[in-house]
Amino acid sequence: MTESRFAAKNACGTCRSRTADGKPVEHEECAARAQIVEAPDAPGYEDLAEMTLEHKAALPARFHVPVFEALGSPQMWLCAVCWDEGTTSRWPCATASEKGAEVFTR
Ligand SMILES: [Zn+2]
Ligand SMILES: [Zn+2]
Repeated sequence: MTESRFAAKNACGTCRSRTADGKPVEHEECAARAQIVEAPDAPGYEDLAEMTLEHKAALPARFHVPVFEALGSPQMWLCAVCWDEGTTSRWPCATASEKGAEVFTR
C-alpha cells in the first residue's frame, strides 16, 4: 500500500500532526483524495428538475461529472446531470463518454 504524506482536510489530529512532521498518515481514510469540483456555472437541482433527459444530455460536457451514489444498491457512479424521476445514468454517461476530454480540467 502506498502511504500518503498528504492529510485530508477532515483528517484526524494524529494524521494531521504526522503529515506536519513529514510522516505518512496513519489511517488510509485520512489521506487527501482526488477532488471533483463542479463547473462554476453548473445547473442547480431545480434547473435540472425542469429539463428533459434529452435537454440534459445536450448540456456541455463539463456538467457531466460523476457523483457517487453511496446509498444505492449496488453502489455506483452516476452522472450529475443525466437523471430524471426514476431514471439515472451510470457515469460516464453517453455525453461524458463521447466528449471525455471536455469534462475535467487538469
Ligand atoms: Zn487519521
Ligand atoms: Zn451525463
